[in-house]
Amino acid sequence: MTADERVVVVGAGLGGLSAACHLAGAGHEVVVVEAGPLPGGRAGSASIDGYRFDTGPTVLTMPHLIERCFAAVGASMADHLTLRPVDPMYRACYADGSELRVRHGRDAMTEEIRRVCGPAEAESFGRFCAWLTELYELEMPRFIERNFGSPLDLARPLGPALDLVRLGGFRKLARSVGRYFDDDRLHRIFSFQAMYAGLAPYEALSIYAVITYMDTVNGVYVPEGGMHALPLALAAAAEQAGVKLRYDTRVERILLRQGTTGAVRGVRLEGGEVVPAKAVVANPDLPVAYRTLLPGLPAPRSTRRGAYSPSAAVWHVGVRGELPPGTEHHNIHFGREWEGAFRALLRDGTRMPDPSLLVSVPSLREPSMAPPGRHALYVLEPVPNLDGQVDWQDERPRLRADLEHALDRLGYPTDIEAELLVDPLDWEQRGMERGTPFALAHTFRQTGPFRPGNLERRAPGLVFTGSGTVPGVGVPMVLVSGELAAQRVAEMQAGR
Ligand SMILES: Cc1cc2nc3c(=O)[nH]c(=O)nc-3n(C[C@H](O)[C@H](O)[C@H](O)COP(=O)(O)OP(=O)(O)OC[C@H]3O[C@@H](n4cnc5c(N)ncnc54)[C@H](O)[C@@H]3O)c2cc1C
Repeated sequence: MTADERVVVVGAGLGGLSAACHLAGAGHEVVVVEAGPLPGGRAGSASIDGYRFDTGPTVLTMPHLIERCFAAVGASMADHLTLRPVDPMYRACYADGSELRVRHGRDAMTEEIRRVCGPAEAESFGRFCAWLTELYELEMPRFIERNFGSPLDLARPLGPALDLVRLGGFRKLARSVGRYFDDDRLHRIFSFQAMYAGLAPYEALSIYAVITYMDTVNGVYVPEGGMHALPLALAAAAEQAGVKLRYDTRVERILLRQGTTGAVRGVRLEGGEVVPAKAVVANPDLPVAYRTLLPGLPAPRSTRRGAYSPSAAVWHVGVRGELPPGTEHHNIHFGREWEGAFRALLRDGTRMPDPSLLVSVPSLREPSMAPPGRHALYVLEPVPNLDGQVDWQDERPRLRADLEHALDRLGYPTDIEAELLVDPLDWEQRGMERGTPFALAHTFRQTGPFRPGNLERRAPGLVFTGSGTVPGVGVPMVLVSGELAAQRVAEMQAGR
């Protein structure tokens, strides 16, 4: 291999792995350099006292984007990874004691809404899905799976932008959902997904309803073996296609011809080894990549001045005892508070009063994640990032006590045999700007052509992938970001 042919991918997160697959598929020689011992990055895993915890994403959607990574390297997903539908996708538990199960399939979900919320609401569900589908089919090719040259591209051609207006994409999400449903429980279950984009449902634009499409309409899946099976499978397929993966190897600098600017010439590893390359695809959190790997090259302004998503406190617990009756894989326990809780989190930078919690129980479907008769629980509370008001060193014992109390109150076993608590200081220590694993929030001004771009024009050959760049946060988006990064390298090769 020569430097003229090689592309170095820094980081084997899902963005880096997707980029590696699509680059290898396009015929490049690819070397992935990963600081950690395994692939996955934020989609990581931890083994503690006989329990195995998936430490990142739990809600997996849009399997066709995963299939595209395998197909890029001439492999089939079936040879590497088995995905199973999670049905019900969520058990929503409300403060009044009622429960709603979000079901796979329109008929099953319509029936569930009829049972819990009545026939009028059930009748609206079909129209709601039709709206979500239209929005998704418009946005995905035109605004998401696309590299932008400039903000003007949003209106080139004009037709799709006008269609987005016609579909109400620029109305507030909460209002749009409210046009279909009266029941507050449905408002919550069909709009909480705005949180995945770092926004409150009453502030988010309806363009982000595509996230609701991704789970509610398109379905939630889980890999056999747990979530970490996904990066392991992608890495295996990439390796079989000739991609070289170097683990436990940290990149110290991305090397540019004129020091702090100019064309890419490779990377320098910790220890001094230089790996020459014609292009470098950088997967670390984008602002951190600029600060640590590209000193002297200022990061885009939005990374310094922008609004970052809230963070998440995640408590992984291995417990002995019976689960409460009706427990599903994903259980959302909504607090009584809604708008007030978001205001505390997003405006005041404090913990939510009466927070809504996600309790996932991956060991229900994957018994290998816990010793016999035990369960692995994943308890997530949205919390402020490090721009907020919380002193996390001080708060940490209180947070743990609150989460234990909440588990107990909700009927989950609290005979704890293993645990791991991750708070914003931990995310920061793992290389995530402002202590959030969810990057810049998806406000309109931090989305599409307004998000830090994947092409660094001051350093030809330097491309970004992952949640800090386009299209954004979440497994589906970072898989797309890998494809977009590979397209940028192809354009560079073609001299465009
Ligand atoms: C708690 C949590 C819950 C989530 N829930 C969901 C969910 O339910 N559904 C969903 O779709 N998404 C979810 N997400 C978001 C999703 O997991 C992320 O958006 C995605 O995994 C980010 O991938 P990435 O490739 O951008 O970054 P990363 O996974 O962070 O990858 C970056 C990689 O670069 C490596 N690296 C960094 N610096 C260097 C260096 N100098 N040299 C070499 N390697 C380096 C890192 O070790 C890492 O492996 C969740 C995330 C978290 C943390």
